[in-house]
Order: sequence, then C-alpha cells, then structure tokens
Amino acid sequence: MSKKPFITKEQAQQIIKEFPTPFHIYDEKAIRENARKLNQAFSWNKGFREYFAVKATPNPSILKILKEEGCGTDCSSYAELLMSAKCGFKGHDIMFSSNDTPLEEFRYAKELGAIINLDDITHIEALEQACGIPETICCRYNPGGTFSISTDIMDNPGDAKYGMTKEQIIQAYSILKEKGAKKFGIHAFLASNTVSNEYYPTLAGILFSLAVEIKEKTGVELSFINLSGGIGVPYTPDKEPNDIMIIGEGVRKAFEEILVPAGLGEISIFTELGRFMLAPYGHLVTTAIHEKHIHKEYIGVDACAVNLMRPAMYGAYHHITVLGKENAPCDHVYDVTGSLCENNDKFAVDRKLPKIDKGDILVIHDTGAHGFAMGYNYNGKLKSAELLLREDGSVVMIRRPETVEDYFATLEGFWEVI
Ligand SMILES: *Cc1c(COP(=O)(O)O)cnc(C)c1O
Repeated sequence: MSKKPFITKEQAQQIIKEFPTPFHIYDEKAIRENARKLNQAFSWNKGFREYFAVKATPNPSILKILKEEGCGTDCSSYAELLMSAKCGFKGHDIMFSSNDTPLEEFRYAKELGAIINLDDITHIEALEQACGIPETICCRYNPGGTFSISTDIMDNPGDAKYGMTKEQIIQAYSILKEKGAKKFGIHAFLASNTVSNEYYPTLAGILFSLAVEIKEKTGVELSFINLSGGIGVPYTPDKEPNDIMIIGEGVRKAFEEILVPAGLGEISIFTELGRFMLAPYGHLVTTAIHEKHIHKEYIGVDACAVNLMRPAMYGAYHHITVLGKENAPCDHVYDVTGSLCENNDKFAVDRKLPKIDKGDILVIHDTGAHGFAMGYNYNGKLKSAELLLREDGSVVMIRRPETVEDYFATLEGFWEVI
C-alpha cells in the first residue's frame, strides 16, 4: 500500500508560485467528509458531540470548518479558550479539559460557560474559590496500571499525570453534588494514537461500568461520558486505518449492554479527537535544496523540525512522497534533514526513496494534527504559512509565515539598538 498526496506536482508548482515552501496545507473536503463520517458513526446516540482538540491544529479557519460540521472545541489553555470564543463557540460548545490549571483559566472558562473538566480532586476547592462550582461539571478518571486490549499493552495510565483515582472520583461526585452541581460528566484518555477499532469500545466499557458504580455509590446519574482523544491514524503505509463505523458500533454495543439496563440510556457520548480529525488531511510541503554525500546520503530540505517536531521528538515516522516521482522505484536510501544544529532534525532516517534531485518537491504526510501546532523557534527558525485547499480547488493562506519582526517582537527596543 502507498500513501497518495492530495495535491499533484502540477498543483504544488502552481501553489509555490504564490506561497513559497515550506508550508502546511490542509484538505477542506477531506476534513469535512471525515467529520461527517464520525457524526454518522455515533448518530445512534442522541446527544453525541465531537469537541475538536484545539491543540492539534489551532487555526480559526480549521475551527470554523469543524463548527459548520457540528463540532465543539476542547481547550486546555487561555489562548485556546480565547480562540474558540473568537470563532463563535459558546457555552457548552466548549470543553475545558486542562490540567495543572491556573485559577484565572478556570475563571475565564466559567465566564464563557464552558464545560469544565476537573483533572484533580483538589481542583474542586480551587474552582469554588476562583469562581464557584458551575451547574455542569466533569471529572477526569485515571484507573492506573496499564491499559491493554486482549494481550496488547496499549499505554501506561499508571505513569500518566492526568485524572483522579477511582476512590477520588467517586468522592468528587459526592462533594460536587453537595456543593450544588446538577449535571455531571466523566472523561478519560487512556491511550494515544491507537490504530485499533477496539480502543474506544474497551474504554467505553470501563467508563460505562464506572458510571453504573457511581450511580450506585453516590446517587449521581451522569449526563455525558467523554471518550476524549486517542483514536489514531496509520502513519506508516503498511497499517490499516481505523474504521470509525466499526468503532461507533462497538461503543453502541457496550452502551446497550451496560448503560441501558442500568437505566442510564439517556447519557450523551462526547469525543475530543484531534489527530483523527485532522492528521491525514494535512501535508508539510518542502523543497529539496541540498544533497550531501559523506558517510551517509543526505537530502537537505527547506523545512526543519521547527515546522514538524514529531520525528525529532518521538522518532515518529512520517511518510514522504517525492512529487512527480510517485511511480519511480525507491532505489535510494536517504536521511532527509532540516537545517537545525541538532542531529535529530531528520524527517526520515535510512528511508528508501526515489532518486531526489535539488528542486524536487516533497510532501511529508499526516501533518494536519500536532504538526504546525508543536512548532517552536529554535535556531531562530521561523514558523511557516498554513494554507487551505478549498473544496473548489482554490488555495487560500490561513496563516502567514512568521517574519523576523515577529521573532524579535518580544524584545523591547531591539530595532533601536542596531
Ligand atoms: C491531546 C488531547 C486530545 C486529543 O488527542 P488526539 O490524540 O489528538 O486525539 C483530547 N483530549 C485531551 C484532554 C488532550 O489533551
């Protein structure tokens, strides 16, 4: 199997005339189709809603597209809340799933009427002192231990800083009820980037059973269950993508088996997906500007880890297509590098690719989520533009590239000195 870019070489050449590389580009049509499919997969649940994890792709144009598809936003900082508010998300359109939260962020979230998701039991008191307990409140659960599906260990919640233990969360609902909260939710994020149709149904089973236990022990009947993020995408071309229809059906089955018999069949299901909503629908487009033959073969490109940090940070695989050479044999082995003075600034290591010539345009795949967003300014490198490929085939710039003026903007008096 191979990954096919959503732009051709000819399209890229046209775009580059106006917007030089490197840039991120997003595919509006595919984003909408995927969002509709998610909504369809959970249409059996009356109150279903996806709250897009803003941190994955914090761009107002992207948020507006998802808003039109019925999504809310999931925020965990002041700036993300502000961006959501600016894009017209109101009240319960916004989920505030933060941790280690400054009080002023709780205050702002409450002012916006967002659903506040408490990461820790001590946050009950903090919230009460900061701005009072809202009528609707959510708590984040961490069961500890490892999270497995059959015999596969998927992730390690016992090592994760998030959420409350079971004892704490049960106590939290009792306290919150006493303090006047009226509507309650539960949230958990137990494994990241799962490429398995079993993750959500397994997680749902755990949370649904806990919902029943919470009802028995505290009398609190949950109104919503937030399955959070974690549905992944296949970064490598050999992996099968998740089937969201099968996932939705798996969650429905657990719902019917556990919640309905317990008289909890009115609960709404929420999701907080980031990667699944956007990753495959973004490319980082970059030009080969240098080749180097020393102990290994290197291709230097005009993007670097500042534009996409995942390979440097996690050793993550991102597939690369050399535009116009889609069908050429992959008979060369390259490290594809950026220009940072860090040897981990490599988009690919020992990658089999077609022969790359200077001037070739490379598409780095699956950069639509946690791509541009993780960017930084190391080595004085500037962040790139973000472009949107509209449904009609036109391309618009939805964020301009950074300039040195932006880079120096926080240094008071910088330009006067020189
Ligand atoms: C990051 C995050 C998400 C989204 O995670 P993905 O892996 O992108 O789906 C959802 N909820 C919370 C609280 C997060 O921190």
